[in-house]
Amino acid sequence: MILVKTTGDLQKILFRHESAGESIGFVPTMGALHNGHIQLIRNAARNHPVTVCSIFVNPTQFNDQADFAKYPQTIEEDINRLEEAGCTVLFLPKVEEMYPVNDPVIAYDLGAIEQVLEGKYRPGHFQGVCRIVDKLLLAVKPDGMYIGQKDYQQCMVISKLITLRGHRTQLQVCDTVREADGLAQSSRNLRLDPGQRDKAPLIYETLLFVKENIKPGNLSALKAEALSRLDFHGFRVDYVEIANAGTLEIVNEWDGKEQLVVLVAAFLGDVRLIDNVLLSENTRAVP
Ligand code: AMP
Repeated sequence: MILVKTTGDLQKILFRHESAGESIGFVPTMGALHNGHIQLIRNAARNHPVTVCSIFVNPTQFNDQADFAKYPQTIEEDINRLEEAGCTVLFLPKVEEMYPVNDPVIAYDLGAIEQVLEGKYRPGHFQGVCRIVDKLLLAVKPDGMYIGQKDYQQCMVISKLITLRGHRTQLQVCDTVREADGLAQSSRNLRLDPGQRDKAPLIYETLLFVKENIKPGNLSALKAEALSRLDFHGFRVDYVEIANAGTLEIVNEWDGKEQLVVLVAAFLGDVRLIDNVLLSENTRAVP
């Protein structure tokens, strides 16, 4: 695996591969890698002779500066895991590389998707995600980009970004990788204390509770029951919502046919966790 820190060096290496007709798979991450990330790398490496992983804790997508400051960093372990998983190039830029002085700010027209759920609770978050992913897509020009369903709304935002900016990249959304007890793997799990770690699987249990108990008609009582379960166990819940799986429009009355997803964002202490479960088979975050 080759490690590069500047866009110029990255492009020099990738140019050689492109000229040889080799396709490029790309996995953007913020590091503190776990099996969810590694699944993305392995999927990319299976489909492309060249797999690029970026590790960059992107300051513009953090609406909470304390969360940014405490974001876990485990770079030595990350490098070993990437090498084992078949990554070809690791792009590890510094903040100044991605955000030079006087870097212009583009306003991405994401529409309604930016107003709900994560968009509502983390103002500016998706603009920051678009800003960095746009730069990375311009630098890497990947044929395939591999992202996780764990960040359901982000998958939809990135799909929209690709259309808005005319990138030629195909998106591949991969399943959420979980711990044995159901907790979605997340870099932020490293920040949970043992008591919080014991409680954290309740998020997935609550999502499954909604999946098992949903019936056509009004969904308010089911959402309220799900919220109170988390509340009772000490979570500070931003939302438990049921939404249209294709648009993320909030659904309060279900006709029994509309394709749905249930999504949660909740804090344990100052650690914010998100997760989601599709409520119908054959649905995907990105068509
Ligand atoms: P992050 O490092 O958290 O920005 O995540 C980088 C990529 O890994 C994103 O596409 C995430 O959706 C994906 N990802 C994070 N956690 C998981 C997981 N548990 N399962 C699958 N993909 C994941």
